[in-house]
Amino acid sequence: MCSFSEIRERLESLKKHISITDTEISFLTTPKKVISFEVEYDKDNGKKEVLNAYRVQYNTVLGPAKGGIRFHEDVSEEETTALAFWMTLKCALTGVPFGGGKGGVKVNPKVLSDNETERISRAYIKGLHSEIGPWKDIPAPDVYTTPRIMAWMMDEYEKIIGRHSPGVITGKPLSLGGSKGRDVATAQGGVYVMLGLLKRLGLGKGNVTVAIQGFGNAGMNAARILSEKGVKIIGVSDSKGGVFNKEGLSADELALYKKKHGSFEGYPDGKNITNEELLGVKADVLIPAAMGNAITKQNADKVNAKIILELANGPVSREAEVILERKGITVVPDILANSGGVIVSHYEWVQNNTGLYWEEEEVMRKLERQITKALDETYIVMKEKKVDMRTAAYLVAIEKILAAARLRGII
Ligand code: GLU
Repeated sequence: MCSFSEIRERLESLKKHISITDTEISFLTTPKKVISFEVEYDKDNGKKEVLNAYRVQYNTVLGPAKGGIRFHEDVSEEETTALAFWMTLKCALTGVPFGGGKGGVKVNPKVLSDNETERISRAYIKGLHSEIGPWKDIPAPDVYTTPRIMAWMMDEYEKIIGRHSPGVITGKPLSLGGSKGRDVATAQGGVYVMLGLLKRLGLGKGNVTVAIQGFGNAGMNAARILSEKGVKIIGVSDSKGGVFNKEGLSADELALYKKKHGSFEGYPDGKNITNEELLGVKADVLIPAAMGNAITKQNADKVNAKIILELANGPVSREAEVILERKGITVVPDILANSGGVIVSHYEWVQNNTGLYWEEEEVMRKLERQITKALDETYIVMKEKKVDMRTAAYLVAIEKILAAARLRGII
């Protein structure tokens, strides 16, 4: 996962493109609040277990902190802080009126029963309730956390404060105030960005081919949505391995097969490949949609796509990025490519706070407009300043954050 020194280094490198003072860099590299606490819960076998948990409210000049909570063994304070920094940029870039936050519990979610997951979710909120709220810090799902978990968390929060407060958390099930379209928003947003960019690059015509690493919420929905649009999915993988077929794979059949068999092993309509081989598939677009640091300096040289669309957070390491740039590969940064999730989270929060609920068609129309605007702003800066897309997205976001901080008299 991205180390915090990489973030500092990247911000320092922006000095080449904008005038940014050391005070401003230190403001941007300092999290506002880092909460580290313990979550104690009862295991099904009657024993108690204590887990490390975190919530980082990185920056709130543009609004309340916003960002998901992940349940994963690799969760750490440093990783949560880096992810919260990216949420700050993501919200600023896309015009979501929130700051950036992130949370996590260091646990292996795959070994937990549903009851244990519920107890951990409730215990997390018990430990954190005074720090969150619709105008303070609004959590959401992230890696291995689901709408079901958001429901437990919201319920626990409301029990503690003694009143309804659906806007405290987003990514909820529809029947508890979730937004239509939130479940597919990350993938749908990524597809809007991808198709918009291909058009701008003059690559949108003819048969576009895509390979997707990761078949969770984002990867699977991206495969489905792209197939519906006639884009050919030629390779997919999950943590156990992948499958390749240059004639194209059916997203629905892949989903059914994985549900039944737990992996793509033995998938009849294609050739089984490893995760590493998937990264080397010759495709127009490679979509890393799993964990951070999937593409590193060890495997970046093998990448054989024209564009990488970062549907995961931080899938391309800084060293890998240098190699990819040398190879002429465009990396669409996570803070743009996967921002559909938080954009629709904001719509959910608006609906919760007004009590008026929108149809999916309205959500999607708004999402397309908002994410395309962020793509345009990024694209213009990329061309004007002759920088890579990530640098351009950072420049757009940082300008908005610094403007707000200056007006508040913080810097
Ligand atoms: N976890 C998602 C992200 O990294 C969504 C965050 C949110 O909706 O607040 O963008």
